[in-house]
Amino acid sequence: MKVIFPLFVTLVFLTACVSNERNIGQTTITKWKDDKKAAISITYDDGTIHQFTVARPIMDSLQLKGTFYIITGKIEGSAQGKFIGRPIEQILAETANIKTNADNFFERASAIGFTGSGDALAYHSNAGSIFESGKIEEAYALIDEGYAKLRSGAIPVSEHKPRYSRTDSTTWDDYRAYAKDGHEMASHTVTHPRLAVLDEPNMLYELEQSKADMVKFLGDKYTFSAECPYGTEDERVMEYAHKIYPALRNRMPEPWLEELNRSSRQQPGTSRKEYVQWQRGPLTDISMEIMKSWVDTCLTHDNIWLVLVFHGVDGIGWEPRTGDELREYFSYMKERENDLWVATFADVTKYLRERKTKTIQNHFEDEQIKIKLMTDLDYSIYDIPLTLKTYIPANWDTIEILNQSKSIEFEIRKDELGKYALYNIPSMGTEINIHAK
Ligand SMILES: [Zn+2]
Repeated sequence: MKVIFPLFVTLVFLTACVSNERNIGQTTITKWKDDKKAAISITYDDGTIHQFTVARPIMDSLQLKGTFYIITGKIEGSAQGKFIGRPIEQILAETANIKTNADNFFERASAIGFTGSGDALAYHSNAGSIFESGKIEEAYALIDEGYAKLRSGAIPVSEHKPRYSRTDSTTWDDYRAYAKDGHEMASHTVTHPRLAVLDEPNMLYELEQSKADMVKFLGDKYTFSAECPYGTEDERVMEYAHKIYPALRNRMPEPWLEELNRSSRQQPGTSRKEYVQWQRGPLTDISMEIMKSWVDTCLTHDNIWLVLVFHGVDGIGWEPRTGDELREYFSYMKERENDLWVATFADVTKYLRERKTKTIQNHFEDEQIKIKLMTDLDYSIYDIPLTLKTYIPANWDTIEILNQSKSIEFEIRKDELGKYALYNIPSMGTEINIHAK
């Protein structure tokens, strides 16, 4: 005992010194920006008016940025929905003799929404919902029923005129102003269809035309993320949409990201993946207590990205929440901002991808730490600053950090591995030099 105890103490002491020396220069990109514990993205679907006149000002007053998935065909000046294909009368006539089957289903399901009325559009939407639930034959039968009504006149056929609610009167000028304030505007297609039952030309039109209008009226930056309506994860839709948009809230391709969608009952804490995107829909009957508990859950782990999906606000839109509720909820997040990174869907995606693709080299020599970062990502798109953590010698009291020869701000902190500097560099930052001053 007499011998072992001092030896043990000496070993611990030596190990501490050695490990600290070995760590010097060691640099990592923190899991979340500013070394926070979790990320939250506040997203809104369908672009209904109170999202912009009620929810957005609340977010602005708290300096929080949101993501708004907007239906571009509703906005004055942009391309509206249309059916692309053979004349609708021809398709309609055929339905009298040929039953709906795998060969004609997508064309018919695409066309029926443009025969002129809301009743016909409902056949498109309902057939889509049934199709996505796997009941293919029932979806065919529903399309047959819809066309039978159109042929008999039970549903009148007329030239399609999109009928949009007057309450959705936000203009491209308004959207441009919101984007300038730091909110993310993103596509939610041209007409909000059930993409899973559209044929190729119509599906591509919904995805590509919407993107083209986002570029035309807002700029390339707002074509990064998109949301295909009804949260679809249809394989065919995902394949097309991922070729057009770098990120989809519906589903992401990253192997290191587990996705728990809005209907999932799995708790995010059970995931072994490096990141968990946990989507929650704060529908009208979800209590404030539960909504706050989602935020609390983020804080008890280090890998959760909570993605909130809001629809209606103050009586307008699906499953609305009141402005008062939103203020209470967002303030709850704001009070915890020291540990939470509240950012748009695009910004969080970009940070994670930048972090996961960067390679870092570090080198400690002649009382200088030199760090090199490399990535294949396009800096003009992946433009989110990264937070770096670099271990420095314990005896460096004041330091300077240079990024491409320019002095940058930092914080000095300590953990069980020693003293380190925490600092942000622009995404294109590649050369960093740290030295004592
Ligand atoms: Zn929607």
